[in-house]
Amino acid sequence: MEENRIAELQGAGNPPAPSFEGSLLLHTCCAPCSVACIDSLREEGIEPVSYWFNPNIHPFTEYRMRRNTLREYTASIGVKLLENDVYGLRAYLDAVGGNYEQKDRCPVCYHIRLDEAARFASENGFSAFSTTLLISPYQNHELLIAAGEAAEKKYGVEFLYRDFRPLFRQGQDRARELGLYMQKYCGCIFSEEERYQKRKKKHKEEA
Ligand code: SF4
Repeated sequence: MEENRIAELQGAGNPPAPSFEGSLLLHTCCAPCSVACIDSLREEGIEPVSYWFNPNIHPFTEYRMRRNTLREYTASIGVKLLENDVYGLRAYLDAVGGNYEQKDRCPVCYHIRLDEAARFASENGFSAFSTTLLISPYQNHELLIAAGEAAEKKYGVEFLYRDFRPLFRQGQDRARELGLYMQKYCGCIFSEEERYQKRKKKHKEEA
């Protein structure tokens, strides 16, 4: 997303969130995105339990790096981390079903992760679930909400919505200060390819 859109989101004044009392399972895509989400929830008096489930991160070395970074970060700030530690390359590809374009695969990717977070939350006595994906201006926020609401309905557990996007830059800056591993692409092998395609295109234009 363009820098001006990020700036716009940073300046957006959100209405105060409705208060929440209960146990929250926070699906966590990566440590850097979790920094400001966790800080913000704690400011509200919510102590989230982080939940790792990201079969969309490829290749395995990248998956392991992001998972291990989250392990270290949550331990350092005293947040409980639960892991569904599945490197689900094949399951992810099967779910996407050959529809590799971003507009087709991202909704599926949101659905896989939020469906699982809601299932786990429901079966393990949490009052609600949410996701750190809600902080990213690079994700489709509306589709994320739709996926969260569908999972809420399916499992009968509240989807705690927060628009964390205004906190994105400060969270990333803090993550950098802390020396956390900062990934260069969203996660799937397609987003990794797109990163290089974009770079190639830029070099061509500059040549
Ligand atoms: S770009 Fe990101 S959100 Fe979209 S399918 Fe790939 S990993 Fe999932």
